[in-house]
Amino acid sequence: MPTRKAWNKKTILLALHLCAVAIVSALLWVYPPYDGLNAWILLPWVLFVLSTLALATLPPAWFAHRRFDPVFMGGEALLLGTILSFYLRGESWLFYPLLLGAVLLAALARRLVWAVGMGAAVAAAHLLLHVGQVQLDLGVLILQTALILTTAGVIGYLTEELSREEATTTLLDNALEISTLLAGALDSNEVYDRLTELVARLFRAGRVAVILTEPGTDKARVEAAVDKGEQVPELTIDLERYPEIQTALERRAPVVISRPDEHPDMADVRWDLPGDVRRSSILVVPILADDEPRGVLLIRLQRAGHAFSDHEIKFVRIMADAAGHALMRAEHFAELAEAARRDSLTGLYNMRVFHRRLAEEIERCDRSGARLSLVMLDADYLKRVNDTYGHLAGDRVIRQMARCLLQQVRSIDTVARYGGEEFAVLLPETNLAGAFQQAERLRREIKAHYFEALQGGPLTISCGAACLPFSPEGFRVPRHRQDALIAWSDQALYTAKRGGRDCSVTHEGRDPGG
Ligand code: GH3
Ligand code: MG
Repeated sequence: MPTRKAWNKKTILLALHLCAVAIVSALLWVYPPYDGLNAWILLPWVLFVLSTLALATLPPAWFAHRRFDPVFMGGEALLLGTILSFYLRGESWLFYPLLLGAVLLAALARRLVWAVGMGAAVAAAHLLLHVGQVQLDLGVLILQTALILTTAGVIGYLTEELSREEATTTLLDNALEISTLLAGALDSNEVYDRLTELVARLFRAGRVAVILTEPGTDKARVEAAVDKGEQVPELTIDLERYPEIQTALERRAPVVISRPDEHPDMADVRWDLPGDVRRSSILVVPILADDEPRGVLLIRLQRAGHAFSDHEIKFVRIMADAAGHALMRAEHFAELAEAARRDSLTGLYNMRVFHRRLAEEIERCDRSGARLSLVMLDADYLKRVNDTYGHLAGDRVIRQMARCLLQQVRSIDTVARYGGEEFAVLLPETNLAGAFQQAERLRREIKAHYFEALQGGPLTISCGAACLPFSPEGFRVPRHRQDALIAWSDQALYTAKRGGRDCSVTHEGRDPGG
């Protein structure tokens, strides 16, 4: 759907062309340049009329693309050349195609220097083709040649400005796209991957990498990298070999290295640099998180001597800022996620995680046929501790109990705080006898533990153990088995409490026969 802007542009251009056609036609009619109108001289006028008709039929969407502007400018230049040449009494029809050629070449060059070069070449050709032709006035020849050259220059300047503006717009559009993307992303690795891909594409860079330092070491991790269009797997690098990165981190400012093999910062590593790096241009921008340098965004172009423009550096800074925000957000999110899994007093897993682990372990047991046990344990008479030493002392006891339990279990076991002073210990690949033994070991350890908060006074616990698969009633639904295992160990714990506390009981009774 063409925009309103495109319609406006088309209307204005068309109106201008029609006015110009009318004026030129009137001029030609009132002041014919020759005694009779020469067909050759009419040619550019006919072309211009035709181009005006073409302009009227072009879809408005075309006018939205600024890349067509040079074509329109070319048309205007041709018209200008026509009028001037008529009234300078130029007699050579060759001037028009040459002027048109110069305009088109300059528009395609999109760089002032190249446009002027091409203009000069065409102007020289114009001179060579006409010099010595007696019928052509020397002044006219010089004026026409100058016109070719200056038109090419003006078009070159305008197109260079235009392409610079286009490049800036592209950068801004992409900055907007990436910041929108980053605003919603929680996975920092995804952010780094998309960031490196986008920057590599925009800069047509040989290599783009997000590199994060590893605190306390002189190493850094390449979190995401694109090398010649390909994603590179994560790797660790030695920062000593990358002085440009070190400098950017120290200065907390962008570092531009246009010729690595001549740059003083690279003096120490110059001879180790691979050939393609020596002939590259490097931009390194620090990634800050909470105002601390945490890594860099590195861009390496395949050509030496490319000075990154201010706009480009600004753009890469915005990207590095985005990476810093992604890093902070990911860290905060990970902290929150971890906090949501933990009990705040003891740091143990909370009930939610315990239930998830239990369901996972039951599934695993189903596959492997292994046994799964659960020990529920509860501090004896903790209320008395609170009443005697205060609640803070009770909290410290619960914390110490948690630490003590963690020290006694295997890495595959899960210890969770199930309730106030009740803990659950999930023991995969453990039968009932093993669970009973483990419960007894925990009980003895806690009993032998020196609790500062109790000023050396003893603390005992009671334990209840149960094991799956054990299904006298044939539990088939996992949910039932989860509930059953918890209920059995809870009942066993209750039995232990009723039996005088400071003991372990299984759901089969005091002695599991193991
Ligand atoms: P029992 O041997 O029957 O378990 O006796 P108990 O006093 O430990 O048990 P009871 O169920 O009667 O009461 C549990 C007490 O544990 C109540 C509360 O004072 C204490 N408690 C529970 N959670 C916390 C906690 O987070 N901090 C502190 N300081 N005390 C807690
Ligand atoms: Mg208790």
